[in-house]
Amino acid sequence: MDISFAQEDLAFRDEVRTFFDEQFDDELVSRLKSEDFKEAIVDWQQRLFKKGWIAANWPVEYGGTGWTPTQKYIYESERSARGIPGVIPFGIGMVGPMIYQFGTPEQKEKFLPGILNSEVWWCQGYSEPGAGSDLASLKTKAELDGDHYVINGAKIWTSYAQYADWIFVLVRTSNEGKKQEGITFILVDMKSEGIKVNPIIGIDNEHNLNEVEFNNVRVPVENVVGEVNKGWTVAKALLAHERTGIADVAQSKRNIRLIKEAAAKEINGGRPLIEDPGFQARIADLEIEIMALEFTDLRTIAAMAAGGFPGPESSLLKIKGTELQQATQELRMELAAYYQGVLPKYMSEEDLGHSFGPEARVSYMYGRASTIYGGSNEVQRNIIAKYVLGLE
Ligand SMILES: Cc1cc2nc3c(=O)[nH]c(=O)nc-3n(C[C@H](O)[C@H](O)[C@H](O)COP(=O)(O)OP(=O)(O)OC[C@H]3O[C@@H](n4cnc5c(N)ncnc54)[C@H](O)[C@@H]3O)c2cc1C
Repeated sequence: MDISFAQEDLAFRDEVRTFFDEQFDDELVSRLKSEDFKEAIVDWQQRLFKKGWIAANWPVEYGGTGWTPTQKYIYESERSARGIPGVIPFGIGMVGPMIYQFGTPEQKEKFLPGILNSEVWWCQGYSEPGAGSDLASLKTKAELDGDHYVINGAKIWTSYAQYADWIFVLVRTSNEGKKQEGITFILVDMKSEGIKVNPIIGIDNEHNLNEVEFNNVRVPVENVVGEVNKGWTVAKALLAHERTGIADVAQSKRNIRLIKEAAAKEINGGRPLIEDPGFQARIADLEIEIMALEFTDLRTIAAMAAGGFPGPESSLLKIKGTELQQATQELRMELAAYYQGVLPKYMSEEDLGHSFGPEARVSYMYGRASTIYGGSNEVQRNIIAKYVLGLE
């Protein structure tokens, strides 16, 4: 096993760094933090699209980058280390691959270009109040009426539905057989009559989540992706795409770097906190765990580069990766102490002497979700129990 980077990988890393230096400029950073978020993120994604770097996981024939697993790893590590947001996953990462894998030629022609160039914003309508981990229990139903399906029900936790032009939805089209058997994957225009988006404000005080109601929403039958009643096959294929790059070691390493920078300035009993042995021990514990996870991640990448396929180890990476993200977010939050409170309008972050305080709070609060979405960590443990340990 060889886990050092080859010369051409190092050259690629330089190209990525130069691109980020030139394109992820200060103006974009401040727009991403403003009310202008949607336009700013679309602008960023269109810069990636122009460079040919928007769709790392797509086959080249559909506009993918053709990167090796190692190049994907390098790109993601560099991106995350700088705190650059990832591509919003719902179009490029989720529905796009389902359309080129299961869609008709007409669906590919109609939908793929708008996904690639980020002109069309997608959201994911899977979860329902009674169907999260147990997704196959979903109840939102679609009944055939001529050449349309009529959809009734509600989806919940729909990220960014307030921005979305289209939503991909799992609906129940039959109650026959096992609950997985009567599900269909369908594409719905968010401008359709009968759709209502209700905001849900998170504990980070941000509006990212929503409930989406469907009241007699008419959708043409040609919007079904794959076979009617066989949507579970599509749903499972999509979740495999959702779990790539899930450990996000670079994010935890970035958090440690930010903690060290801030602790070097922080005064605690007359000296910087970074010199406190108790604090140093906590940093060291986290760094050791992060390093161990990084090598596990690299071992998986090396196996994939040699033609392997990520198996249940992606569950292991998800559990440990998200636990470490949360542990580093927690330490950063503790460091900010009461300065993580709401920033008074008349003060700048610099006035507080803790420019990272409010950001640390938002990232800690939102970070609570990482052990829930993408398949909760408890569910990942079940997968390890079944496929790695052979327990039933
Ligand atoms: C920030 C955020 C964004 C999201 N965005 C979207 C989105 O855009 N679209 C979308 O469709 N969904 C989205 N989700 C929903 C997400 O997929 C679900 O929250 C997740 O699948 C868990 O489902 P649930 O919330 O219903 O919890 P439940 O499934 O009810 O689980 C509750 C608890 O029980 C545990 N549990 C459940 N089953 C088992 C089991 N068999 N064994 C052991 N423990 C178990 C879980 O781990 C969890 O701790 C989002 C969620 C969050 C937090």
